[in-house]
Amino acid sequence: MNFNGKVILITGGSRGIGNSIAKEFVKLGGTVIINYRHNDAAAKQTLKDIEDLGGYAVSIKGDVSSYSFTKSMINDILNKFGKIDVLINNAGISKIGLFIDMHEGDFDSIIGTNLKGVFNTCHSVAKHMIDRRQGSIINISSIWGEVGASCEVLYSASKGGINSFTKALGKELAPSGIRVNAVQPGIINTEMNKWLTKEEKEELEGEIPMMRFGEGEDIAKLTTFLASEDSKYITSQIITVDGGYIKDKN
Ligand code: NAD
Repeated sequence: MNFNGKVILITGGSRGIGNSIAKEFVKLGGTVIINYRHNDAAAKQTLKDIEDLGGYAVSIKGDVSSYSFTKSMINDILNKFGKIDVLINNAGISKIGLFIDMHEGDFDSIIGTNLKGVFNTCHSVAKHMIDRRQGSIINISSIWGEVGASCEVLYSASKGGINSFTKALGKELAPSGIRVNAVQPGIINTEMNKWLTKEEKEELEGEIPMMRFGEGEDIAKLTTFLASEDSKYITSQIITVDGGYIKDKN
């Protein structure tokens, strides 16, 4: 696989899975743009990681749940780099808690970031990719979007929405030469799971056939494959990377 000369936009690229995906593309020669919401220090660290790998990246701060921000971010990238070959929709948030304790604002922020954010970027990028009759879009979903998680109802709904969105958009854009797929991670070692106690972590690991959480790199390897020519006949797919975890959870 080779991404020399390719421009890759990764939302939520400042840390966690997004950081791993950014590094993997850079190792394969790609030029990476990372978007992030708040954490300037994390974004700087990702840029440094990329520099250390001998690569080139820029960061753009802003909220993907805003249509106007997303549109102007994509226009700026197109003006500066001339194209976007690969879009990775990775930005995401979660909130754990009983459904009855959730507020309307939680619905707006979780669905707004996780699902509307994917609509926002795709809506601006698709027109450009259709004009070029090429491009690859990869959405980072979650196993909970397929099987649902107790105490993560809104998060599960947002990821289930991403899965259907991916299947439908992949069909619609296939005749224009654009592929759309989703990666559905299980439990990955990132800040998102830092709230688990040692005991809770061990209990969860015991339920995973591979007996460990995944690493960002596990997601990044599949993401680069799905963005590459090696997967040129794969579209509209939701692919699980979870160490065997949800096989019997449906
Ligand atoms: P993380 O919290 O470490 O990183 C999230 C990233 O998203 C950060 O860069 C943050 O700046 C960005 N972000 C959040 N809201 C944003 C917004 N409104 N606009 C722009 N950027 C925003 O999380 P992670 O674990 O690396 O998760 C990355 C993706 O993978 C998410 O979509 C998440 O739902 C998904 N996922 C994670 C796991 C897991 O176990 N960690 C499992 C399944 C799916």
